[in-house]
Amino acid sequence: MDYNEFYKQSIDDPETFWGTQAKRIEWRTPHSRVLDYSKPPFSKWFVGGETNLCHNAIDRWVDKQGDQTALIAISTETPDAAPVEKTWSFRELQREVERTAAIMQSLGVGKGDMVLIYMPMIAEATFAMLACARIGAIHSVVFGGFAAHSLATRIDDAKPKLIVSADAGSRVGKVVPYKPLLDEAIRLASHKPAHVLLVDRHLSAMERVAGRDVDYAELRQKFMDAKVPVTWLPSDHISYILYTSGTTGKPKGVQRDVGGYTVALATSMDYIFCGKPGETYFCTSDIGWVVGHSYIVYGPLIAGMATILYEGVPVRPDASIWWQIVEKHKVSRMFSAPTAVRVLKKHPSELMRKHDLSSLKALYLAGEPLDEPTSDWIAGELGVPIIDNYWQTETGWPVLSIAKGVQDKPTRLGSPGVPMPGYKMKLLNESTGELCGDNEKGVLVIEGPLPPGCMQTVYGDDQRFVNTYWSNFSNEQVYSTFDWGIRDNDGYYFILGRTDDVINVAGHRLGTREIEESISSHPNVSEVAVVGVEDKLKGQVAVAFVVPKQAETAADPKARLALEAEVWGLVDKQLGAVARPARVHCVNLLPKTRSGKLLRRLIQAICEGRDPGDTTTIEDPTSLDQIRNALKG
Ligand code: ATP
Ligand code: MG
Repeated sequence: MDYNEFYKQSIDDPETFWGTQAKRIEWRTPHSRVLDYSKPPFSKWFVGGETNLCHNAIDRWVDKQGDQTALIAISTETPDAAPVEKTWSFRELQREVERTAAIMQSLGVGKGDMVLIYMPMIAEATFAMLACARIGAIHSVVFGGFAAHSLATRIDDAKPKLIVSADAGSRVGKVVPYKPLLDEAIRLASHKPAHVLLVDRHLSAMERVAGRDVDYAELRQKFMDAKVPVTWLPSDHISYILYTSGTTGKPKGVQRDVGGYTVALATSMDYIFCGKPGETYFCTSDIGWVVGHSYIVYGPLIAGMATILYEGVPVRPDASIWWQIVEKHKVSRMFSAPTAVRVLKKHPSELMRKHDLSSLKALYLAGEPLDEPTSDWIAGELGVPIIDNYWQTETGWPVLSIAKGVQDKPTRLGSPGVPMPGYKMKLLNESTGELCGDNEKGVLVIEGPLPPGCMQTVYGDDQRFVNTYWSNFSNEQVYSTFDWGIRDNDGYYFILGRTDDVINVAGHRLGTREIEESISSHPNVSEVAVVGVEDKLKGQVAVAFVVPKQAETAADPKARLALEAEVWGLVDKQLGAVARPARVHCVNLLPKTRSGKLLRRLIQAICEGRDPGDTTTIEDPTSLDQIRNALKG
């Protein structure tokens, strides 16, 4: 099919388009109306329809392919880093999820109740998510690496009846006890859950609170033979809430529905990921992020695929572990992030070349801009197409990509691709709100109604949904992505960074992302962050922090000065002298969120001598000391 025609139909006649897509999933009651957009910007998809996410992920496949593998849980977080693996067929997964659902029901959890899941990457985490979906409870998965304070704010926002957790996680072979963090978070929070369901991995001793804490293994025994039928839910019932990464500020609780989300995932699995029942999907994200929700847990299962849940880092026992998994499980589609690829790139290529990767058809990357060197390197190593895709926690599935299942359009370097079905994309001039022409930079926005699968609202705060996302232009109500973009003559979009990451140097507005892109083309720069720092004379100046490829550079003052001069030369040539950073500092590590996104706001605060504020989403706090030291030196 021709992409243009396909896309046009989804925009011109969304009701026919999505009405057809709805047939991809099973419904208890079919919808009476495809779309209700009578109260913009709130949209309701598949009105009157009743379905269930868990039914479509598991039960539906049990008759057809009950003995085929559904879930493969692999952990390299073992004492010797040797992978330990366990698999469940669709039938076995159904039984396991029914047990977990029965446990939840015995703890008083039912339709519409909130369950917070604070878990490492173990199979029980997915059982818990699917069990919630099965009985119509709403899950709120909080990334297992978050500290007590971040967890406490999320407990207070979601007000869970039940928290599901474990004694500990493990990172790079080191046990990270969760239970003390959880207890501290519950102490800090004003809301108290009635029960805490604990999976004991026997990694770390736990103190239990009598009456509140209950043991998973014990209850599982009790409900070994439990049968828990699926609870049929109205299409617009809340399936889950999930907080954004907090890269630019306070995380927002994204709320999603049941029917629209299930249809959107089924559609994306076919048109974008080309997944086929019986094949294996490997997404290296974490269940704490939206990518993990959509493409570790729900998407692949909805498509009848086996899904891999991986606990561990990509370089332990060595940098071949992912490729070992691809070979062993004949993975056909893989999903990861540019950050992970950059980590692998630092290791010898022989490690991946020793594995037979012939099952792999494509690698999808998302989450942050995919730079050319990273994309080229991994494409060369794997010999398969690298498909960049752009989306947000808010959208739940790709906004821009290549719909390979529709038409195998060529990818274009530096571009995540073209709009996916149902996303009516536009670029608007930031100050006038006027439509941008080809090759003209603007704010990337989506015209309502947002397609199925996107956020319904900000949890518990409709007004915040309208104010935050839909009120950025006075002339029309559109959804703002808060990202800059540009579209070329052929309709490919390019993301030029976040609208918050703009600096004003002597009246010139510059995107820090553009300066970063220019600096990263230097052969000795492996990563870079540019921030705007207050300046008496110019208002703001750009300051760059680079991670040199040659580690010696950072330690040698002469080499540092030479690199700074070369970076200046590059920026002058590519963007002009106004964009030239006032200083170029060398560090070994940049502050990032745990999902791998640069935390420019923290760097900026330190540069301006301010308190960095909420640092709870940071991956490695020592990166902030590096910034401080670099400023001193
Ligand atoms: P917060 O909204 O709380 O500040 P966040 O925006 O980092 O956090 P996410 O929803 O995880 O939270 O990230 C979505 C953002 O990630 C996008 O808006 C965009 O800035 C960036 N992004 C995602 N995929 C891509 C991509 N393929 N290319 C460029 N940028 C991307
Ligand atoms: Mg965001």
